[in-house]
Amino acid sequence: MLIDVHAHFYHERSGRADWREVNARRIAAGERMGVTVHVASVLGTWGFRSPIYFPSPDDVTYGNEQMLRLQNEHPGKVFGYCTVNPNYTDHALREIDTRLTQGMIGIKLAASRRANDILVDPIAARAAEKGVPILHHIWQHRRRDWPGQEASDGVELAQLAERHPNTRFLLAHIGGGGDWAHTLRAVAETTNIWIDLSGSGVDIGMLEATLAAVGARRMVWGADITLCTGWGKLRYLESLGLPKADIERIKSGNARELFPAGVFGK
Ligand SMILES: [Zn+2]
Repeated sequence: MLIDVHAHFYHERSGRADWREVNARRIAAGERMGVTVHVASVLGTWGFRSPIYFPSPDDVTYGNEQMLRLQNEHPGKVFGYCTVNPNYTDHALREIDTRLTQGMIGIKLAASRRANDILVDPIAARAAEKGVPILHHIWQHRRRDWPGQEASDGVELAQLAERHPNTRFLLAHIGGGGDWAHTLRAVAETTNIWIDLSGSGVDIGMLEATLAAVGARRMVWGADITLCTGWGKLRYLESLGLPKADIERIKSGNARELFPAGVFGK
């Protein structure tokens, strides 16, 4: 079994005419690569009507509806994270309660607030209460805000995770560019953070360093926007000489423990 914990899909309001083909290609290419399950999110309208990392409540709701539609179209194959913008606490909590009841299995946070901001606390608390993980977008070593993005990096996610020891966090895309070594040092001791291996970077030494920092129990495979780099990382992983049981954990075992029991079948 191979679970992609960081997938994305599009819809007709995401500003690209080929959204249907892109979605279909992800499923088809995933099939060829052996992806059994895509756990995916939609960030509002992907910047088309409101900023990607600061989606408006209307766009959050619309994106989640579209994500749920895809989940229902591909039962057992596609699952959704409920995307929320923590700047709108009431809307975010309502959206989480509704979407989890409708079948979504996790929560997605973008860079709408620094990860250690108190506005993220109610979301983290609700995740623990509902027993679902949070996939948190993280820039690998980002100490200043860029236009349209708060700075969030591993240091801040570690602070949030320490405030919420009963919440499980997925640190997004260690291969997403930037200083992954900084991230690994920042979260190594925080055992309720798992590292999502997605992102376009497949740097020499990155997976070895991740293993050394957090071990196979806290690594989860994913692809993010580019499925081909997920595939590259899978091949790299298989070349590390790890015990088969550890590879299975990274490919699916850890994800099966992170998400609610039984959602991916037996
Ligand atoms: Zn992503």
